[in-house]
Amino acid sequence: MAQSVIVIGAGMVGVSTAIWLQRFGREVLLLDKDGPAAGASFGNAGLIAQWAVTPVTTPDLWKSLPSYMLNPNSALFLKWSYLPKMLPWLAKFLSHANDKSAQSISRNLAPLLTDGVEQHKALVAGTKLERWISDSKFSYAYKTRKDFDHDRYAWDLKATVGMIPTVLNGRDVQDAEPILGPDVKCLAVLEGQGHITNPGQYIQELTDHFVSNGGKYVQAEVTGLNKVGGRIASVATTKGVFDCSETVITAGIWSKDVMKLLGLKVPLETERGYHVIFKNPSEVPRNPMMITWGKFGVNPMDMGMRCAGTVEIGDHHAEASKNPIKVLRRSAKEAFPKLKYSDTEEWLGFRPSTYDSLPLIGEIGASGIYTGFGHQHVGVTAGPKTGRLIAQMISGNTPNLDMAPYAPDRFGV
Ligand SMILES: Cc1cc2nc3c(=O)[nH]c(=O)nc-3n(C[C@H](O)[C@H](O)[C@H](O)COP(=O)(O)OP(=O)(O)OC[C@H]3O[C@@H](n4cnc5c(N)ncnc54)[C@H](O)[C@@H]3O)c2cc1C
Repeated sequence: MAQSVIVIGAGMVGVSTAIWLQRFGREVLLLDKDGPAAGASFGNAGLIAQWAVTPVTTPDLWKSLPSYMLNPNSALFLKWSYLPKMLPWLAKFLSHANDKSAQSISRNLAPLLTDGVEQHKALVAGTKLERWISDSKFSYAYKTRKDFDHDRYAWDLKATVGMIPTVLNGRDVQDAEPILGPDVKCLAVLEGQGHITNPGQYIQELTDHFVSNGGKYVQAEVTGLNKVGGRIASVATTKGVFDCSETVITAGIWSKDVMKLLGLKVPLETERGYHVIFKNPSEVPRNPMMITWGKFGVNPMDMGMRCAGTVEIGDHHAEASKNPIKVLRRSAKEAFPKLKYSDTEEWLGFRPSTYDSLPLIGEIGASGIYTGFGHQHVGVTAGPKTGRLIAQMISGNTPNLDMAPYAPDRFGV
């Protein structure tokens, strides 16, 4: 297997990378410690978020921060016990909450996101997996028109990439989405979007597709990266050592630990997020939507209606907290007052986030070791494009995109 590429982590980014490498004619070994979609790619909102070019760190964050910090019912949470450890990251994260940084982040997120639906369709073209990708509208639900107007900064950024909503007010809101209760008085609707109806199953089947086309998948944890003459030569795992000529680290938040195996420290922290699935719902939205005051997406999926989101700045070792789930459930009740369901299911996941809100995509020096992680809130959307870009780079094809903003060495690693 001397010429093979080893992809570490079978989430949305890793599986996409493995498939694109395979299409470029490479022999690929895909590894995951817990199985495909064991991380954030399992329980997310499944939105192909082409519009998500607005980072959390906009200048508006300063206005909302005091209420986020002091109000236990707001949709942004902090794991206080972890604060001392992540203070340096948090300080740098907040330093990006200004117009210049927000514009620059937005510009650099755009090429990874705005063709998300097309990239997913290209990943599954001609396979039975096409059924997991649905075309749809996407709406932002607001309690009042004033709340929409308060979001002007974010909408102006979205407008730069052509995401301009039709804004519905009053009774038109319930005509468009009968599931919404009377508390929702404004709906900003984007056309031409898409979503995934079961992200975990989608990734499992992408892995099966990769294997059926000759790829190798092994469930094993990576424990070492061995270099010879400064280049990767093999990857050590709990199931033995595998030779390779290149490797790609796509291990989500755990990429931080894999990078440590190389003696490299990356500024990657987690924005924890939660989901609640309302099973056998009495009604579902016609199209996916964002409940803006609860900061979560709503997606009618095949296992029920999934509400997924909220942000809890913290770490990926601590247990789930109670408050984010409480706020999520309460906001869902406000949005959908008539909803009935048989049962619910909860989940906690870890968004892998850098303080400049951009992923690390590229080669570390000339080591043959590539990074594909740090996709924060948008890894499902940007996974297929990232995988394609990495496969191009490994195959010696220059991507038609300036990769400098995503360079893994931009933090001095
Ligand atoms: C609540 C919530 C809602 C979200 N909603 C959306 C959304 O609607 N749209 C969107 O685009 N994004 C969304 N996201 C973000 C998205 O889920 C992530 O950005 C994305 O899943 C990250 O994918 P990944 O492949 O980088 O990492 P992961 O999916 O976390 O995969 C990493 C994999 O690496 C494996 N691994 C780790 N360490 C090792 C090791 N040492 N050896 C071998 N394997 C290893 C893990 O087992 C895991 O399977 C959401 C996230 C959350 C938490």
